[in-house]
Amino acid sequence: MEKQNIDWGNLGFGYIETSKSYVSDFRNGEWDEGRLTSDHTVTISECAGVLQYAQTVFEGLKAYTTEDGRTVAFRPDLNAERLYNSACRLEIPPFPKDRFIEAVREVVKANESYVPPYGSGATLYIRPYIFGSSSVIGVKPAEEYQFRILTTPVGPYFKGGAKPLTIKIADFDRAAPRGTGHIKAGLNYAMSLHAIVQAHNEGFAENLYPDSATRTKVEETGGANVIFIKGNKFVTVSSPSILPSITRRSLEYVAEHYLGMEVEEREIPLTELPEFEECGLCGTAAVISPVGKIVDHGREICFPSGMDEMGPTTKKLYDTLTGIQMGRIEAPEGWIFEI
Ligand SMILES: *Cc1c(COP(=O)(O)O)cnc(C)c1O
Repeated sequence: MEKQNIDWGNLGFGYIETSKSYVSDFRNGEWDEGRLTSDHTVTISECAGVLQYAQTVFEGLKAYTTEDGRTVAFRPDLNAERLYNSACRLEIPPFPKDRFIEAVREVVKANESYVPPYGSGATLYIRPYIFGSSSVIGVKPAEEYQFRILTTPVGPYFKGGAKPLTIKIADFDRAAPRGTGHIKAGLNYAMSLHAIVQAHNEGFAENLYPDSATRTKVEETGGANVIFIKGNKFVTVSSPSILPSITRRSLEYVAEHYLGMEVEEREIPLTELPEFEECGLCGTAAVISPVGKIVDHGREICFPSGMDEMGPTTKKLYDTLTGIQMGRIEAPEGWIFEI
């Protein structure tokens, strides 16, 4: 496969148009057969449900080239399932899971020249999403929807290696109990923008949200789950209002089955933070971003792993998961999806 003439090593994390997107329309109560399109714009009513009442959900995954030259995606079945669940929560007709996976295959195949080569650190980011496309003025679900998948090549999230981040305990709330924190919806991001801009202005990389009901327990950041290391233990948050990160769930498996760690998924009180040795944020984009320091309204919690590099156990987790993704380490059954 002839690749595009792109300086893969210097790609940023921004949008670049590729050759095709995938589109399927929901009309008269059903999804049509779907197709590839070269039109990277969307024309909808000014009164579309997505524009007026934010009726939209999305996913994010990556395609990349393995060490032996295969084009693959990582666990797209879990993205299919999560988009399905997100859609149901917003009264969006869910897109069939088997069709989601085939649409990912089709659109990546059509853009194979944009899948970065092995070793470049870059990947083809895949963004599936659904939105209410018909007009809505009284508050109710739209009648028509569009499912699309856009792809765009992105560089490594952290150029020159991941430096530990300093994050703050958020002043705002992210997700209410029984709210929408567990689904991947644009609305959860819209309301986080003010908080993130403020955090950046104060010199922090991210907000770590406590639970909204009591503000005594760790939840997650605006776009990543949080993981902690304590001795041989891998500790993550259990909460009905966090997004079930595929990276975090994969890391739990890696910790237990590849590194022989004990995995705990449970409530984490803020008062326990000083007891951890390492901390990281996990998500598709960066896999793991190490956290060196958490600031809780003036009180600094500095992890022993320090501010210079990833902690040793976080590094092992990172190397093992990226090794599995890139085909250097044998993957568990069903994790690597061949395009
Ligand atoms: C997408 C997302 C994550 C990360 O999920 P992955 O499946 O690992 O990419 C974590 N938290 C939130 C709020 C998210 O939207």
